[in-house]
Amino acid sequence: MAAHPSPKRGTVLVADDDPVMRLLMLEMLTQVGLDAVEAADGPAAIASFQRQPPDLVLLDVDMPDMDGFAVCRAIRALHAIESAATVPIIMVTGGDDLEAVTQAYEVGATDFVSKPINWPILGHRVLYVLRASDAIARLRVADAQNRAVLAAIPDTFFRLNRDGYYLDYEQGHEAGNAFPLEQCVGRHVSQVLPQHIAGHLLEQAQAVLASQQIRSFDYELQLGLQLRHFEARLVSTGAGDVLGLVRDISERKRAEEQIRRLAYCDSLTGIPNRQAFLELLERELAHSRQAGKKFAVLFMDLDSFKRINDTLGHNVGDLLLQTVSERLRDTIRPSDVVSHMASGNHLARLGGDEFTILIPDLDRVEDALAVAQRVKDAMRRPFQLDGNEIFVTASIGISLYPEDGQDSESLLKYADTAMYHAKNCGKNNAKLYSSSLTMQIMSHVKLEVGLRKALQNNELYLLYQPQIDVPSSQIVGVEALVRWRHPEHGVIPPNDFIPLAEETGLIVPIGEWVLRTACTQAKAWQQTCRRAIRMAVNLSARQFKDENLTQIVLSALGDSGLEPRLLELELTEGTLMDDARATMAMLEQLRGIGVLLSIDDFGTGYSSMSYLKRFDVRALKIDKSFIVGLPQDPENAAITRAIIAMAHGLRMIVVAEGVETDEQLALLEQYGCDMAQGFYLGRPSPQESITQMLKVQRAPATPAAR
Ligand code: C2E
Ligand code: MG
Ligand code: MG
Repeated sequence: MAAHPSPKRGTVLVADDDPVMRLLMLEMLTQVGLDAVEAADGPAAIASFQRQPPDLVLLDVDMPDMDGFAVCRAIRALHAIESAATVPIIMVTGGDDLEAVTQAYEVGATDFVSKPINWPILGHRVLYVLRASDAIARLRVADAQNRAVLAAIPDTFFRLNRDGYYLDYEQGHEAGNAFPLEQCVGRHVSQVLPQHIAGHLLEQAQAVLASQQIRSFDYELQLGLQLRHFEARLVSTGAGDVLGLVRDISERKRAEEQIRRLAYCDSLTGIPNRQAFLELLERELAHSRQAGKKFAVLFMDLDSFKRINDTLGHNVGDLLLQTVSERLRDTIRPSDVVSHMASGNHLARLGGDEFTILIPDLDRVEDALAVAQRVKDAMRRPFQLDGNEIFVTASIGISLYPEDGQDSESLLKYADTAMYHAKNCGKNNAKLYSSSLTMQIMSHVKLEVGLRKALQNNELYLLYQPQIDVPSSQIVGVEALVRWRHPEHGVIPPNDFIPLAEETGLIVPIGEWVLRTACTQAKAWQQTCRRAIRMAVNLSARQFKDENLTQIVLSALGDSGLEPRLLELELTEGTLMDDARATMAMLEQLRGIGVLLSIDDFGTGYSSMSYLKRFDVRALKIDKSFIVGLPQDPENAAITRAIIAMAHGLRMIVVAEGVETDEQLALLEQYGCDMAQGFYLGRPSPQESITQMLKVQRAPATPAAR
């Protein structure tokens, strides 16, 4: 008989009371390359096993004292020895003793051979049992490893048969309740998961079986109050069913959401940022293109935000931006927007003090202007921030799709350009971008060339607007307002060329001309009408910073012979706030000359009462935007009244600008306003008209002219 190489050389414990049998067995085992140890009875066999556990046991059933069954049972019970439970034990039974065979299995035998023994095949039999047990051992290890892996991964694991019944299910320790039921095995997916998820899971499982490829899908489960997200990965086991791993990805989703928020939200105000707005714009473009609709992009920038930041600090600046975004949100919430989009999406902060609003489904341009007006109104209410009362205005530019641009970049750029145009037109304005605006900007250069010549060519002239003393209704002063009679474009109002003059520095010679002309005119009235009429002249920031200003003022006064107390210089809040130290020095010099100072357009810039007090100005002119809504607008009425009270508290005179009606004047009088100016009392007029007015007023029979 040829010796077969054993898969792994092994040792066999042979237990038999018959020495001949033992001898033969040993012989056969050696033949197939196995080692053997002998035991002559049961106790010897157990002792040998304990001493040196063999790889297999050949055990005779029939032994005196302790039979093979007892020995087998005893070996299996040797818990201290690892292999005792699994070592293959072959029982040698007598003849056709079926009962012995059954009993052998019952006590834990692996196999049996019956007498008479077929010696030539005994060795092989032993070898195959050894091999099989080896395979089983390996399987057992693999299984243990699989279980360990499954226990180690946080996922819930399940097996599903082709029909959708759970064959296996193991709750992952981190997978939460990927299935809402504790016990899934034996149930159908539709009994465990909500219908739509179960349906999808089955579909995917079928696809996995058909393609033999891994698939994965996400689903959400509402577990109590929590919405949790899961990711299921499915793979075919190769045996016609599907293995699934489910992971709780709620944390990841939350992180993704947070990243999305960070990427798309402005961290200061919580509203969408530039990126989000650009994407929204893209979506709106696609939608409007398809639906043949119009929309508008509104670009808002706060006037003089930088100054607030610089003087009151970044905390107040931040607070202001947050409050502004809240007001904007409230302003655009109601009707104009929100059709196919969720509310709040249309508003974004592009950065700094720049905000944008998308107005979809626009029927008429007027609707966009109405939104702009509401935004302006919302900004005009004073902001109470950190103990400061702040007044803010906004400049707004609007571009329209499809008229102004066909892509998001152009639309945003044009809205921005329009906003700058609005600012140049005196702030607190809203302007539409239109092709004419491009023209205007293009002709800016031409305008500048023209403005340089305007002085030499005598194209500038002054109009004078009366200022009335409210209690007596008497004209006590006038404000000089410059005009430019352009040879081609006709009369250009100051708002259209003063910004350009400031930009180019031309305001300095123009301002000097205005000052000299106004002083001369005031002196002339004093002589012809024998009335001391105060002359108010507007001073731009650029002039105020000019170190020659005091010289120019002195010279204008000297040349005209006007008394300094009859000249009033109007400064804006912006001019004063720019550089506090230089401002104080300049104010000191001007006061030294004896001229009066007033603050123009009060309320539109940034209004800090404590600053005003330091500047020690004579008068405060309430901006016409507050007067325009009177007497109906309760907010403006309250602001106006507050400004008057406060100014009086600081011993300042209050002048109301833009008085257009009788009711406004009556209300202002009731509030104790000192002086008023406006179309109702007299439009800006040429000097002859003013001379007329002054003469009429002097005549005692006529009622006071307004
Ligand atoms: P301002 O100094 O606030 O002048 C008042 C403006 O309000 C004037 O506009 C005047 O015509 C207008 N106004 C007066 N009463 C009413 C009214 O009842 N209703 C309405 N809606 N408006 C009224 P104007 O003349 O167009 O001047 C605009 C601005 O241009 C002035 O605002 C001033 O800031 C500036 N400006 C005018 N002349 C000069 C100047 O000589 N030098 C400088 N630096 N700026 C000037
Ligand atoms: Mg003025
Ligand atoms: Mg004004």
